[in-house]
Amino acid sequence: MDRTGIQQDSAQVEAVKDLAEVLGQKGIFTQESDRERYASDQSGLSGAMPLAVLRPASTEEVSRVLAICSRHRIGVVPQGGRTGLSGGACSPQGTVVLSTERMSGIIEIDHEAMTLTAWAGTPLEAVQEAARAAGLDYPVDIGARGTATIGGTIATNAGGIRVLQHGMTRPNVLGLEAVLADGSVVSRLGKTVKDNSGFDLKQLFIGSEGTLGVVTRAVLQLRRQVRHSALALFALPDHAAALACLAAGRQRFGSRIRAFEGMWPDYWDFVCHETSLATAPITGRHGFYLLVEVEAGASQPEEELEAFFAELFEQDLVEDGVLAKSLTEAQALWSVREAVGEVDEDFGPHINFDIGVSPSALGHFCDAADAVLATLPEAAGALKVGHLGDGNVHLLVAHDGSAAAEERIEAAIYGLLRNWQGTVTAEHGVGRIKARWLGHSRTPEELALMRGLKGQMDPLGILNPSALFLESED
Ligand SMILES: Cc1cc2nc3c(=O)[nH]c(=O)nc-3n(C[C@H](O)[C@H](O)[C@H](O)COP(=O)(O)OP(=O)(O)OC[C@H]3O[C@@H](n4cnc5c(N)ncnc54)[C@H](O)[C@@H]3O)c2cc1C
Repeated sequence: MDRTGIQQDSAQVEAVKDLAEVLGQKGIFTQESDRERYASDQSGLSGAMPLAVLRPASTEEVSRVLAICSRHRIGVVPQGGRTGLSGGACSPQGTVVLSTERMSGIIEIDHEAMTLTAWAGTPLEAVQEAARAAGLDYPVDIGARGTATIGGTIATNAGGIRVLQHGMTRPNVLGLEAVLADGSVVSRLGKTVKDNSGFDLKQLFIGSEGTLGVVTRAVLQLRRQVRHSALALFALPDHAAALACLAAGRQRFGSRIRAFEGMWPDYWDFVCHETSLATAPITGRHGFYLLVEVEAGASQPEEELEAFFAELFEQDLVEDGVLAKSLTEAQALWSVREAVGEVDEDFGPHINFDIGVSPSALGHFCDAADAVLATLPEAAGALKVGHLGDGNVHLLVAHDGSAAAEERIEAAIYGLLRNWQGTVTAEHGVGRIKARWLGHSRTPEELALMRGLKGQMDPLGILNPSALFLESED
């Protein structure tokens, strides 16, 4: 019996014995003190104590352990850095965790093809640094870069701050290797840019949150390194002005816009004034704040951003602005946006919505959400910050911590979303937290097709059970 009071049944004991034989001492944690920290991710959801933590060191070991888990019908939760925000890496009762932490490292950088091949457990930041050392860049970038892994970012199709210029993870993966539930290995680690030989199977695994296979290796498409860019923070009258700035920015800079991040006044006031999470780089009260980063073109990007600001000011689209003149100043501007990762303690219990709608509808959706929240006594304040150019808002709604309040607020916001043809998750993934709301953004036909694919690829349902789909619907 472990500390959770759950008696492991004889099949589970037998399975762990078989797994230990394949993985050896270094490859498996069976002590409670070791297993405990693998139960949950950063979502706030509590996982159950895993039966064991599997730490395979190769694709072959992943294959062998999945075959054993299939034979014993033991659920397997794939885990990377456990930075997920949707509970996808939390272990349900009676499952084992498969951590990729020992499958870490860069395998190859191909300068001509501009690719980097890495093991799934490699931290995103290590990949970014290796690409930069080679004079190139891997453009997927998120706040959790130091801990999130390549496998995790692939499994969640991570977005982040560079989506406007280079897309989410999907277009940045050229090749993939994954192990299916029965242990068979599907490997396509080529560097082919153009490939029309049937279904693009790697796309099935990207964004599948560990429910269709365990990603073991990937070939990533690197980009040319941006050596010079400029960053400015604009204060605007409202969200409509921000949209007009986005259209004007696209006309002027085209694909040289690297970031276009929006902060609503509720968020700004909270991180800059109500707490000391960030220092306000602009004084006065404004209706919206934009962080705009532009890559250098023919002339100096700082001068271009200044000219852009002057043009917008002339049209009453911006009220104030500050241009970063050094790396330190740029970091200070980014720190206001990135403070969202630190609000947890000061903001108290809250729901972290990750809503996506058409970029042109985002402002109206947020106004409608504020109006709905104002009618709910359970909602104790909201903060809005997000990727304006991608139509993605992180809406944080505070409440008293009760399940009833959470239920009411979620039902109201996701109910509203139904009318906007949006998504319940633009980038964090469905995981376990949003599985029950998936029907608010996917049709019954889409869900049936997804379940059909899951049934085909993992007929026993051992891969990440209860993630993405509600268990009763598996
Ligand atoms: C401070 C902070 C900032 C963040 N910012 C962003 C952001 O801007 N954009 C964004 O998209 N996300 C963001 N996230 C969420 C999170 O970092 C991403 O979802 C990340 O991709 C998860 O990577 P991970 O290695 O930690 O995966 P985990 O949390 O370990 O797992 C996430 C999911 O992927 C599955 N998985 C993990 N590895 C594998 C594998 N090898 N094969 C198959 N399935 C696997 C798991 O089962 C789980 O369902 C942020 C999180 C934090 C804490």
